[in-house]
Amino acid sequence: MSTYARLPVTFERGDGVWLWDNMGRQYLDALSGIAVCGLGHAHPAVTQALCAQAGKLLHTSNLYRIAAQEQLAERLTALAGMERVFFANSGAEANEAAIKLARLYAHRRGITQPTILVTEGSFHGRTLATLTATGNRKTQAGFEPLVQGFVRVPYNDIAAIEMVAANCPSIVAVLVEPIQGEGGVIVPADDYLVQLRQYCDQHHWLLMLDEIQTGMGRTGQLFAHQHSAIQPDVMTLAKGLANGVPIGACLARGAAAEVFAPGNHGSTFGGNPLACCAALAVLDTLTNQQLATRAGELGAQLFNDLRAQLNDVAGVVAIRGRGLMVGIELDRDCGVLVKQALDAGLLINVTAGRVIRLLPPLIITPAQIAQLVEQLTQLIRAFLNPSH
Ligand SMILES: *Cc1c(COP(=O)(O)O)cnc(C)c1O
Repeated sequence: MSTYARLPVTFERGDGVWLWDNMGRQYLDALSGIAVCGLGHAHPAVTQALCAQAGKLLHTSNLYRIAAQEQLAERLTALAGMERVFFANSGAEANEAAIKLARLYAHRRGITQPTILVTEGSFHGRTLATLTATGNRKTQAGFEPLVQGFVRVPYNDIAAIEMVAANCPSIVAVLVEPIQGEGGVIVPADDYLVQLRQYCDQHHWLLMLDEIQTGMGRTGQLFAHQHSAIQPDVMTLAKGLANGVPIGACLARGAAAEVFAPGNHGSTFGGNPLACCAALAVLDTLTNQQLATRAGELGAQLFNDLRAQLNDVAGVVAIRGRGLMVGIELDRDCGVLVKQALDAGLLINVTAGRVIRLLPPLIITPAQIAQLVEQLTQLIRAFLNPSH
């Protein structure tokens, strides 16, 4: 169905940061399939894990134990400081699990009409509950009636939460991104998550972090909330978790980890051997090669180079982000830059109308970053000042 306005290109193969289309043209991928292929394309560790598992066993269902799923659960919970995990097949499904978990947690405490606090500009997925949680009218329009039980406040605004909390005693959880991705790479104040954590503790709310885009090393820590040295009660992952194989995960600790019992939730495909083997290979590679730290260092280079090139360019409003999650906000809509970049052999994204978003693979090299900055800043200058 016509759900995407697709660009006129078909990619045939990839290697690291590079893609080749069916005409043999080469492209530098600064988007990673929207923060998915963090290890780059055709990473040998993932390829090997997939090939080996495909020859043994693809699927048995969650009616039986699955060794790879148990191993992945062990590794993920240990790395995240969490206790339990539910595996799904996408980000939206991981968030659906978190939303259901928060509601069941509330019902067990006698709150029969629980409310989840969400923020403006957020993105949490396209299922009915997750598009309701999403803070973008375009995502919701035409799909009413929306799901009940959500209340919205501005992002990065603790005072607004205090006002809403005073009038809404049924709030049981906060669902928020550590950095808003689709919303335009919006980085909150340094103490936002710390304050949210304190506020949730005071009110016995669950702090649920959507790390679907920020997780898996992208921001310079394995999980973005680790910059703030706080611990969520629930965290969702997807995108980069298996480098392109569909998977989602909803992790929990403390009381939140004990909410689901057999029969409360499930998934036929979720946590299947193939996806879990790919995710294990991703985790091994990320940790062995310290790719999160590398993302932090290379992100610093990317910021410095972009700032050096664009500082004095009229029309560039802001350059922001963390690690290898970068947004360049212009003073006007710039969606046409995506096609111009494609024609120049560069894959980028524009979100929230006027924010150029870069999400390159974590394995990108300093020389490739230099090339990316060179190409992109040239395009931005020409776009902002076409007469020169
Ligand atoms: C992409 C994304 C989702 C949705 O993930 P899907 O796999 O497309 O369902 C949810 N939350 C955030 C923050 C995302 O970036």
